[in-house]
Amino acid sequence: MTQPCLDPMPSGSLARRQTHGVRVQWQDQVVQIGGGAPVVVQSMTNTDTADAVATAIQVRDLAFAGSEMVRITVNTIEAAREVVAIREQLDKMNCQVPLVGDFHFNGHKLLTEVPDCGQALSKYRINPGNVGKGQKRDQQFGAMIEMALKFGRPVRIGVNWGSLDQALLARLMDENAARRQPWDAMAVMREALVTSAIESAQQAMDWGLPAHQIVLSAKVSGVQDLISVYRELARRSAHPLHLGLTEAGLGTKGIVSSTAAMSVLLQEGIGDTIRVSLTPEPGGDRRREVVVAQEMLQVMGLRAFTPLVIACPGCGRTTSTFFQELADKVQTFLRDQMPVWRRQYPGVESMNVAVMGCVVNGPGESKHADIGISLPGTGEQPVAPVYIDGERGPTLKGDRIAEEFQALVTQYVERRFGQTAVSEMAKH
Ligand code: SF4
Repeated sequence: MTQPCLDPMPSGSLARRQTHGVRVQWQDQVVQIGGGAPVVVQSMTNTDTADAVATAIQVRDLAFAGSEMVRITVNTIEAAREVVAIREQLDKMNCQVPLVGDFHFNGHKLLTEVPDCGQALSKYRINPGNVGKGQKRDQQFGAMIEMALKFGRPVRIGVNWGSLDQALLARLMDENAARRQPWDAMAVMREALVTSAIESAQQAMDWGLPAHQIVLSAKVSGVQDLISVYRELARRSAHPLHLGLTEAGLGTKGIVSSTAAMSVLLQEGIGDTIRVSLTPEPGGDRRREVVVAQEMLQVMGLRAFTPLVIACPGCGRTTSTFFQELADKVQTFLRDQMPVWRRQYPGVESMNVAVMGCVVNGPGESKHADIGISLPGTGEQPVAPVYIDGERGPTLKGDRIAEEFQALVTQYVERRFGQTAVSEMAKH
């Protein structure tokens, strides 16, 4: 008998790399990064932090969209002072999402001069390439670690190839020049990123910060470089890793690059928290980076956030855009329901809903989904059969197919995921 040539499909979450668990907390809200916890979704604001109202509103929106931590820029004394006001406003809005402070160049000064800022933040991001030079670097880095120790906050040592520690790079370049077969310049750059993260983490630990309060990242903007750097970082360290492609870019290019790089690493168990760094189009919605991060994790089978709509691309068999509009309406409808459904209907986030354009794949795909609809293609009878748990259900027709299908989805959710259904299942 021949053996199947395919690996068995992963069931549930893929095996994660073993790391220290890092707790990031604000009041009752605890987010664990690494240590076996599910991959955490985070995002970053693009408001001026000194504008506390605008920043608090954007943080709340990102958190409401599913960002489990939100990073804010802390770049001036005014911004540092407003961090406390932002935190207070979020608490008043009953939004306990942990805030992460993003520091460059003057973090030591801001945290020392405005200690309340350090208290209001739940985690600090330190860029070891931007904390100063020579002896000053060590003192300024140490001052930030002191504040993390004082308030019991974790830090992310966040290296970025756009602001790499130049003294370290020069040292590695010299070492490389002495090699019998020198590496190419890019390989030295990648090594410098990894070394900077690991040596800075060791320096923080020498200063007294426990290993379980340190997350690492080493971001670059090239997909293959990111994969190489993180594989090496994962091999040489047990700290949880924050994954992200820096300057991923606009629109589809940003989404594709981030997904291409991160999915390879996540598949290998590398990456404990992710951010998709999209450049928003003018007037674009900042929450898009949260949705992309969630969908990436969900389609990979690592986490479930919102029921997914399976929709066909359409082709010459469909003469109208009705089914595309229906797919979009249903996905929006499902997302809009989630804040309530998440509490009322545990497990609903793993539901699949199919919206298909014609009889070719419509009935088959709809039967594989929890609930699906097969719309009529060109020349077919103008009726849309609905399939529920693989069985043929009602047939919809007329002008209200969208509304009637949404009502059927709601009934399905209540029946399948309602508390009564859950407790009935528990009895058996
Ligand atoms: S299901 Fe029908 S309409 Fe959709 S892509 Fe396939 S053949 Fe085209």
